Amino acid sequence: MTADALGRSLAPLDDESLPGYVLRLSYRLGITPNRLMLITGLHHHPDTRKAMQVSARRLLTLNPVSATDFAAAARLTPQEVAALLLDEYASRYSPLAETAQFWADSGRRITPLTQGGWIQITSTRFCPQCLAGDGSPVQDRLGGPWLRRWRLQVVFACPTHRRLLHHFCPHCESAGTPTRPGRAHQMITRAGEAGLHPAQCRQDAAPGSRGPACGGWLSDPAIPVHPADRAVLRCQERILERLHPTGPVPASEAVEYFTLLGLVHELLVLTWPMGRALIGQPELAAAADRHVDNVHKQITALASNKSRHPVHSLMRKPPADPWSCAAFLTAADSFIADADLGALRERIKPFTDAAAATDPRAWYYLRTDARWPDALRESHVQTVGGFRVPARPGKRRPLPTRVCRYQAANVPQRLFEDWRQHLPDADAVAEKHLHRAMALKLVELASGDAWSRAAEFLGIPRKRAEHAVLHVRGWMTSHGRHRAFDAAAEKIAQSLDATDTLIDYAKRRHALKDWDMPMDHWQLFTDELRQRTRSGRGHWHKIDESKRVIVSAHIWTLVTHGELSFAPLVLADKKAHAGQPRTARLLRNAGELHYPLKRNPTAYATIRGLSLDYVSGLAKHIDHRGSATGFAWTPTPPNWTNE
Ligand SMILES: [Zn+2]
Ligand SMILES: [Zn+2]
Repeated sequence: MTADALGRSLAPLDDESLPGYVLRLSYRLGITPNRLMLITGLHHHPDTRKAMQVSARRLLTLNPVSATDFAAAARLTPQEVAALLLDEYASRYSPLAETAQFWADSGRRITPLTQGGWIQITSTRFCPQCLAGDGSPVQDRLGGPWLRRWRLQVVFACPTHRRLLHHFCPHCESAGTPTRPGRAHQMITRAGEAGLHPAQCRQDAAPGSRGPACGGWLSDPAIPVHPADRAVLRCQERILERLHPTGPVPASEAVEYFTLLGLVHELLVLTWPMGRALIGQPELAAAADRHVDNVHKQITALASNKSRHPVHSLMRKPPADPWSCAAFLTAADSFIADADLGALRERIKPFTDAAAATDPRAWYYLRTDARWPDALRESHVQTVGGFRVPARPGKRRPLPTRVCRYQAANVPQRLFEDWRQHLPDADAVAEKHLHRAMALKLVELASGDAWSRAAEFLGIPRKRAEHAVLHVRGWMTSHGRHRAFDAAAEKIAQSLDATDTLIDYAKRRHALKDWDMPMDHWQLFTDELRQRTRSGRGHWHKIDESKRVIVSAHIWTLVTHGELSFAPLVLADKKAHAGQPRTARLLRNAGELHYPLKRNPTAYATIRGLSLDYVSGLAKHIDHRGSATGFAWTPTPPNWTNE
């Protein structure tokens, strides 16, 4: 049916909702809202019960045919029709977009879904003064607008009248005018009844009865004003700015803001009353107390019923009551507003720690929410003494602690010398523990793996890693150096991130896991050594098999940038000859290759030079081929002028 234009129409008010407009126009025309919806094409069921039930979905969106019919009949432009629908907020307020998506995906025509309580489909908040109108003749007669945005849970105050919104009819105490709760699919309650003014309560006078409507005036000036303090109003204005379809805030920024607002709200509920100090108005703080109390009562009831209801959804749902909603959202906004992610991380950390300690299960659900910005995940990680707690076996892979460009594979076992510049005056802890702990930390940042797995990854024996972590933890605690250690880790991570060509040390360690120098290379190596030191000075006492192991271990430390004591050859030797002094000797001899010696300097310098030559070829080969197999080495002729 194509609607004919109405003889008279009405200009929509700013931010007026579709049901509000239907109420005002039908009242003006002296017909029932139902009749108006029928003749304007909002529904097509004149005589059935369905006629009474125009889907509340139309609050959000109209199909193109309905929209065109409605525009023609009510003599509105397509833009004016669009401005009556909540959909206009969808690009900024993601619960709306998610609801629309759900409807599209599920194909359901009718659903009470309200995206975790962030949209009110079945009821609305209101400001009595707004409903009373602005004093113009048309508003005096038909009342002011039922605003679209009162359906959004982030709208809890009226900045114009500097008061909190209401949610219940003060006369019959039921919520949801002009839509009846429990009948989700009705856009307008008592749509078939004529005579009720748009600002009158349409709920049943006696709950559950089929009797007359309450009819109480929701624009009554006698309705007590719930004042909103400056912080609440400022927060509400910030929210409205972000909601405004053509406002200065870019839509993507608004989406990020509302997402974060929701997550922080949940964190505040979870850790309540920790955030109580963030709320200035005592009445609001008390309302927030009541809300959290109520949530806990519901959770306890569910637990005693052994219900499988997802408990965390109770924490996630914003309060329906505008008071506690104002309390939580103002507090959450004070976290987010004017904070870069770094500052926010600092603010949020005590709360995430408390959440992890008080309710690990609920915290798990909140922490693993995919909507958290990456930069905040770091503050979600549970740490003990500065190091991540190892995950229980069988758990999902952890999320990285930090957003890193470098990967765990780019962390060498032995950090480059200059790392210590980021942690000066750390002399009360053994150097070896400090640098091992730092390497473990860098792997943790990039992979999320706790120290035990990081040690396995780096090829550091578990006991040694454990000692390093214990010692460094102890030192950080006794010297108050947690922040310094974290800051140093961040600095090193940044410099790794800024490195153009990152080396895959994990690949090199893997390639050399069972490696020692092949005999033909050793032959070349020793021939070259003899040749270059043939003057007799600097003869390397005895060239035997043990020397091949020493040079192999030395080369391993250079290619993998690893610690000599963790070279596979050294570890294997230690295992095979436990208690014998030979490993110590091996370590000592290989160690001597790292540092210029007074004894026999020529031989050592030559071995070092040959090793470096070998290393540069082998490293390149592994980086390309992923293994040491097939590496052919020819010694580069020595450059005498440089010696
Ligand atoms: Zn108002
Ligand atoms: Zn009422």
